[in-house]
Amino acid sequence: MGTSTRQLNIGFIGFGSFAQFLAKTMTKQGHLIRATSRSDYSAHLGDNFIRDMDEFMGLEHDVILICTSIVSVSEVVKSIPFHCLKKPTLFADVLSVKEHPRQLLLQEVPEDSDLVCTHPMFGPESGKDGWKGLNFMYERVRVRDEDICSSFLNIFEYEGCKMIEMTCEEHDRLAAQSQFVTHTIGRILSEMQLTNTQINTKGFEKLIQVKESAAKDSFDLYSGLFIHNRFAKQQMKNLESALERVKGLLEAKM
Ligand code: NAP
Repeated sequence: MGTSTRQLNIGFIGFGSFAQFLAKTMTKQGHLIRATSRSDYSAHLGDNFIRDMDEFMGLEHDVILICTSIVSVSEVVKSIPFHCLKKPTLFADVLSVKEHPRQLLLQEVPEDSDLVCTHPMFGPESGKDGWKGLNFMYERVRVRDEDICSSFLNIFEYEGCKMIEMTCEEHDRLAAQSQFVTHTIGRILSEMQLTNTQINTKGFEKLIQVKESAAKDSFDLYSGLFIHNRFAKQQMKNLESALERVKGLLEAKM
Protein backbone atom coordinates (compact mmCIF):
# COMPACT_ATOMS: atom_id res chain seq x y z
CA MET A 1 0.00 0.00 0.00
CA GLY A 2 2.81 2.48 0.68
CA THR A 3 3.46 4.50 3.78
CA SER A 4 2.72 8.05 2.69
CA THR A 5 0.42 9.90 5.07
CA ARG A 6 0.60 13.48 3.89
CA GLN A 7 -2.21 15.88 4.58
CA LEU A 8 -4.52 16.08 1.57
CA ASN A 9 -6.65 18.75 0.04
CA ILE A 10 -9.83 16.79 -0.77
CA GLY A 11 -12.71 18.18 -2.84
CA PHE A 12 -16.02 16.32 -2.70
CA ILE A 13 -18.42 16.42 -5.63
CA GLY A 14 -21.73 15.50 -3.98
CA PHE A 15 -22.05 16.16 -0.25
CA GLY A 16 -25.04 14.05 0.85
CA SER A 17 -25.17 11.85 3.94
CA PHE A 18 -22.46 9.38 2.94
CA ALA A 19 -20.04 12.13 1.88
CA GLN A 20 -20.57 13.92 5.21
CA PHE A 21 -19.91 10.67 7.06
CA LEU A 22 -16.59 10.18 5.20
CA ALA A 23 -15.62 13.85 5.55
CA LYS A 24 -15.98 13.70 9.34
CA THR A 25 -13.23 11.08 9.66
CA MET A 26 -11.06 12.75 7.00
CA THR A 27 -11.29 16.06 8.89
CA LYS A 28 -10.40 14.27 12.14
CA GLN A 29 -7.26 12.94 10.39
CA GLY A 30 -6.25 16.51 9.47
CA HIS A 31 -7.18 16.61 5.78
CA LEU A 32 -8.69 19.78 4.32
CA ILE A 33 -12.22 19.18 3.04
CA ARG A 34 -14.06 21.30 0.49
CA ALA A 35 -17.22 20.37 -1.39
CA THR A 36 -19.59 21.28 -4.14
CA SER A 37 -23.03 19.74 -4.54
CA ARG A 38 -26.45 20.23 -6.12
CA SER A 39 -27.91 21.37 -2.76
CA ASP A 40 -26.41 24.06 -0.53
CA TYR A 41 -24.19 22.65 2.26
CA SER A 42 -22.64 25.95 3.35
CA ALA A 43 -24.32 25.49 6.75
CA HIS A 44 -22.06 22.41 7.20
CA LEU A 45 -18.87 23.66 5.57
CA GLY A 46 -19.01 27.46 5.64
CA ASP A 47 -16.62 28.94 3.06
CA ASN A 48 -15.36 25.45 2.21
CA PHE A 49 -18.64 24.81 0.41
CA ILE A 50 -18.14 26.15 -3.11
CA ARG A 51 -21.25 26.59 -5.18
CA ASP A 52 -19.51 27.56 -8.38
CA MET A 53 -18.06 24.54 -10.20
CA ASP A 54 -15.43 26.52 -12.14
CA GLU A 55 -14.12 27.99 -8.88
CA PHE A 56 -14.21 24.57 -7.18
CA MET A 57 -12.23 22.91 -9.97
CA GLY A 58 -9.58 25.64 -9.86
CA LEU A 59 -8.77 25.07 -6.17
CA GLU A 60 -5.79 22.72 -6.70
CA HIS A 61 -7.20 19.75 -4.80
CA ASP A 62 -4.96 16.70 -4.40
CA VAL A 63 -8.02 14.47 -4.68
CA ILE A 64 -11.45 15.07 -6.18
CA LEU A 65 -13.84 12.55 -4.67
CA ILE A 66 -17.01 11.75 -6.61
CA CYS A 67 -19.75 11.03 -4.08
CA THR A 68 -23.00 11.59 -6.00
CA SER A 69 -25.77 9.04 -6.42
CA ILE A 70 -25.16 6.24 -8.91
CA VAL A 71 -28.10 7.30 -11.06
CA SER A 72 -26.87 10.91 -11.37
CA VAL A 73 -23.13 10.29 -11.80
CA SER A 74 -23.11 10.35 -15.58
CA GLU A 75 -24.87 13.74 -15.74
CA VAL A 76 -22.71 15.13 -12.91
CA VAL A 77 -19.33 13.99 -14.31
CA LYS A 78 -20.19 15.15 -17.83
CA SER A 79 -20.92 18.62 -16.46
CA ILE A 80 -17.56 18.98 -14.63
CA PRO A 81 -15.49 21.86 -16.12
CA PHE A 82 -12.23 19.86 -16.31
CA HIS A 83 -10.59 22.73 -18.22
CA CYS A 84 -10.53 24.69 -14.91
CA LEU A 85 -8.07 22.21 -13.32
CA LYS A 86 -4.73 23.90 -12.62
CA LYS A 87 -2.74 20.67 -12.18
CA PRO A 88 -3.12 16.89 -12.65
CA THR A 89 -5.37 15.60 -9.85
CA LEU A 90 -6.34 12.20 -8.44
CA PHE A 91 -10.00 11.48 -9.20
CA ALA A 92 -11.59 8.90 -6.92
CA ASP A 93 -15.15 7.68 -6.48
CA VAL A 94 -17.01 5.80 -3.76
CA LEU A 95 -20.03 4.59 -5.73
CA SER A 96 -21.59 1.28 -4.74
CA VAL A 97 -21.27 0.00 -8.32
CA LYS A 98 -17.88 0.09 -9.95
CA GLU A 99 -17.77 -0.68 -13.68
CA HIS A 100 -20.06 2.24 -14.49
CA PRO A 101 -18.00 5.05 -12.85
CA ARG A 102 -14.73 3.43 -14.00
CA GLN A 103 -15.81 3.58 -17.63
CA LEU A 104 -17.26 7.07 -17.25
CA LEU A 105 -14.18 8.50 -15.51
CA LEU A 106 -11.81 6.91 -18.04
CA GLN A 107 -13.85 8.60 -20.74
CA GLU A 108 -14.18 12.05 -19.14
CA VAL A 109 -11.17 12.71 -16.86
CA PRO A 110 -8.16 14.33 -18.60
CA GLU A 111 -5.41 11.84 -19.49
CA ASP A 112 -2.81 13.49 -17.20
CA SER A 113 -4.99 13.02 -14.09
CA ASP A 114 -5.02 9.76 -12.08
CA LEU A 115 -7.97 7.51 -11.26
CA VAL A 116 -8.79 5.21 -8.39
CA CYS A 117 -12.19 3.55 -8.06
CA THR A 118 -13.21 2.55 -4.55
CA HIS A 119 -16.12 1.19 -2.57
CA PRO A 120 -16.13 1.52 1.19
CA MET A 121 -18.33 -1.50 2.03
CA PHE A 122 -19.96 0.27 4.97
CA GLY A 123 -22.09 3.29 5.74
CA PRO A 124 -23.09 5.71 8.50
CA GLU A 125 -24.85 2.91 10.40
CA SER A 126 -22.36 0.03 10.13
CA GLY A 127 -19.43 2.45 10.51
CA LYS A 128 -20.83 4.56 13.33
CA ASP A 129 -18.45 3.10 15.93
CA GLY A 130 -15.39 3.28 13.67
CA TRP A 131 -14.18 1.57 10.50
CA LYS A 132 -11.96 -1.11 12.07
CA GLY A 133 -12.29 -4.45 10.28
CA LEU A 134 -14.73 -3.08 7.68
CA ASN A 135 -14.02 -3.91 4.03
CA PHE A 136 -12.69 -1.28 1.64
CA MET A 137 -12.47 -2.30 -2.03
CA TYR A 138 -10.36 -0.39 -4.55
CA GLU A 139 -8.91 -0.59 -8.05
CA ARG A 140 -5.94 1.60 -8.99
CA VAL A 141 -7.22 2.32 -12.49
CA ARG A 142 -4.54 4.83 -13.59
CA VAL A 143 -1.96 5.90 -11.02
CA ARG A 144 1.25 7.80 -11.65
CA ASP A 145 1.43 9.93 -8.50
CA GLU A 146 1.99 7.10 -6.00
CA ASP A 147 2.39 9.52 -3.11
CA ILE A 148 -1.08 11.07 -3.45
CA CYS A 149 -2.79 7.75 -4.19
CA SER A 150 -1.26 5.93 -1.22
CA SER A 151 -1.98 8.91 1.06
CA PHE A 152 -5.62 8.74 -0.02
CA LEU A 153 -5.90 4.96 0.47
CA ASN A 154 -4.09 5.27 3.80
CA ILE A 155 -7.02 7.31 5.16
CA PHE A 156 -8.98 4.07 5.21
CA GLU A 157 -6.09 1.78 6.15
CA TYR A 158 -5.25 4.05 9.09
CA GLU A 159 -8.82 3.62 10.43
CA GLY A 160 -8.33 -0.17 10.34
CA CYS A 161 -10.32 -1.01 7.19
CA LYS A 162 -9.61 -4.34 5.54
CA MET A 163 -8.11 -3.17 2.23
CA ILE A 164 -9.17 -5.32 -0.72
CA GLU A 165 -7.68 -4.64 -4.16
CA MET A 166 -9.80 -6.10 -6.96
CA THR A 167 -11.07 -5.15 -10.38
CA CYS A 168 -14.29 -3.19 -10.75
CA GLU A 169 -15.73 -6.08 -12.77
CA GLU A 170 -15.03 -8.59 -10.00
CA HIS A 171 -16.51 -6.18 -7.44
CA ASP A 172 -19.76 -5.85 -9.40
CA ARG A 173 -20.06 -9.62 -9.86
CA LEU A 174 -19.63 -10.23 -6.13
CA ALA A 175 -21.66 -7.22 -4.95
CA ALA A 176 -24.64 -8.31 -7.09
CA GLN A 177 -24.94 -11.49 -5.07
CA SER A 178 -24.10 -9.95 -1.70
CA GLN A 179 -25.10 -6.29 -1.40
CA PHE A 180 -27.84 -6.23 -4.07
CA VAL A 181 -29.51 -9.44 -2.84
CA THR A 182 -29.35 -8.18 0.78
CA HIS A 183 -30.94 -4.84 -0.18
CA THR A 184 -33.61 -6.57 -2.25
CA ILE A 185 -34.55 -8.93 0.59
CA GLY A 186 -34.67 -5.89 2.91
CA ARG A 187 -36.98 -4.02 0.53
CA ILE A 188 -39.23 -7.11 0.15
CA LEU A 189 -39.48 -7.43 3.96
CA SER A 190 -40.39 -3.75 4.11
CA GLU A 191 -43.12 -4.22 1.50
CA MET A 192 -44.43 -7.12 3.65
CA GLN A 193 -44.49 -4.70 6.62
CA LEU A 194 -42.79 -7.23 8.89
CA THR A 195 -42.40 -5.89 12.42
CA ASN A 196 -41.04 -7.11 15.74
CA THR A 197 -43.18 -9.54 17.76
CA GLN A 198 -43.07 -10.58 21.41
CA ILE A 199 -41.76 -13.97 20.33
CA ASN A 200 -38.91 -12.95 17.99
CA THR A 201 -36.36 -15.62 17.19
CA LYS A 202 -32.71 -14.60 16.72
CA GLY A 203 -33.07 -15.32 13.00
CA PHE A 204 -36.11 -13.05 12.76
CA GLU A 205 -34.24 -10.28 14.59
CA LYS A 206 -31.53 -10.50 11.91
CA LEU A 207 -34.21 -10.19 9.21
CA ILE A 208 -35.60 -7.08 10.90
CA GLN A 209 -32.06 -5.63 10.90
CA VAL A 210 -31.76 -6.33 7.16
CA LYS A 211 -35.12 -4.62 6.59
CA GLU A 212 -34.17 -1.58 8.68
CA SER A 213 -30.74 -1.13 7.15
CA ALA A 214 -32.16 -1.31 3.59
CA ALA A 215 -34.71 1.37 4.52
CA LYS A 216 -31.92 3.74 5.62
CA ASP A 217 -30.41 3.87 2.13
CA SER A 218 -32.03 6.12 -0.47
CA PHE A 219 -34.10 4.56 -3.26
CA ASP A 220 -31.68 6.26 -5.69
CA LEU A 221 -28.89 4.17 -4.19
CA TYR A 222 -30.90 0.92 -4.39
CA SER A 223 -32.12 1.52 -7.95
CA GLY A 224 -28.53 2.37 -8.97
CA LEU A 225 -27.38 -1.03 -7.68
CA PHE A 226 -29.84 -2.63 -10.10
CA ILE A 227 -29.62 -0.35 -13.13
CA HIS A 228 -25.85 0.08 -13.23
CA ASN A 229 -24.58 -3.33 -12.19
CA ARG A 230 -24.86 -5.64 -15.18
CA PHE A 231 -24.81 -8.70 -12.87
CA ALA A 232 -27.81 -7.59 -10.77
CA LYS A 233 -30.50 -8.54 -13.28
CA GLN A 234 -29.45 -12.19 -13.17
CA GLN A 235 -29.56 -12.12 -9.36
CA MET A 236 -33.11 -10.73 -9.49
CA LYS A 237 -34.08 -13.61 -11.80
CA ASN A 238 -32.34 -16.07 -9.45
CA LEU A 239 -34.38 -14.73 -6.52
CA GLU A 240 -37.66 -15.04 -8.42
CA SER A 241 -36.93 -18.56 -9.65
CA ALA A 242 -35.69 -19.65 -6.19
CA LEU A 243 -39.00 -18.48 -4.65
CA GLU A 244 -40.90 -20.45 -7.30
CA ARG A 245 -38.80 -23.57 -6.61
CA VAL A 246 -39.37 -23.32 -2.85
CA LYS A 247 -43.13 -22.86 -3.42
CA GLY A 248 -43.06 -25.89 -5.73
CA LEU A 249 -41.37 -28.03 -3.05
CA LEU A 250 -44.09 -27.09 -0.55
CA GLU A 251 -46.93 -27.58 -3.00
CA ALA A 252 -45.59 -31.07 -3.77
CA LYS A 253 -46.07 -31.94 -0.08
CA MET A 254 -49.70 -30.73 0.10
P1 NAP B 1 -27.35 8.76 -2.66
O1 NAP B 1 -28.82 8.98 -2.70
O2 NAP B 1 -26.84 7.55 -3.36
O3 NAP B 1 -26.57 10.06 -3.19
C1 NAP B 1 -26.85 11.34 -2.69
C2 NAP B 1 -25.91 12.32 -3.36
O4 NAP B 1 -26.15 12.40 -4.78
C3 NAP B 1 -26.07 13.75 -2.84
O5 NAP B 1 -24.80 14.33 -2.74
C4 NAP B 1 -26.91 14.43 -3.92
O6 NAP B 1 -26.66 15.81 -3.99
C5 NAP B 1 -26.38 13.77 -5.16
N1 NAP B 1 -27.36 13.80 -6.26
C6 NAP B 1 -28.47 13.04 -6.39
N2 NAP B 1 -29.12 13.32 -7.55
C7 NAP B 1 -28.39 14.31 -8.17
C8 NAP B 1 -28.53 15.02 -9.39
N3 NAP B 1 -29.55 14.79 -10.22
N4 NAP B 1 -27.59 15.94 -9.70
C9 NAP B 1 -26.55 16.18 -8.87
N5 NAP B 1 -26.36 15.53 -7.69
C10 NAP B 1 -27.27 14.60 -7.35
O7 NAP B 1 -26.98 8.71 -1.10
P2 NAP B 1 -25.63 8.54 -0.27
O8 NAP B 1 -25.94 7.48 0.72
O9 NAP B 1 -25.19 9.87 0.21
O10 NAP B 1 -24.54 7.92 -1.27
C11 NAP B 1 -23.62 8.71 -2.00
C12 NAP B 1 -22.73 7.78 -2.83
O11 NAP B 1 -21.96 6.93 -1.95
C13 NAP B 1 -23.52 6.84 -3.74
O12 NAP B 1 -22.87 6.71 -4.97
C14 NAP B 1 -23.52 5.51 -2.99
O13 NAP B 1 -23.61 4.40 -3.87
C15 NAP B 1 -22.16 5.55 -2.29
N6 NAP B 1 -22.07 4.79 -1.05
C16 NAP B 1 -23.02 4.94 -0.10
C17 NAP B 1 -22.94 4.19 1.07
C18 NAP B 1 -23.97 4.32 2.15
O14 NAP B 1 -23.92 3.56 3.12
N7 NAP B 1 -24.91 5.22 2.09
C19 NAP B 1 -21.87 3.29 1.25
C20 NAP B 1 -20.90 3.19 0.26
C21 NAP B 1 -21.00 3.94 -0.89
P3 NAP B 1 -27.38 16.86 -3.01
O15 NAP B 1 -27.28 16.28 -1.63
O16 NAP B 1 -26.57 18.09 -3.20
O17 NAP B 1 -28.80 17.01 -3.45
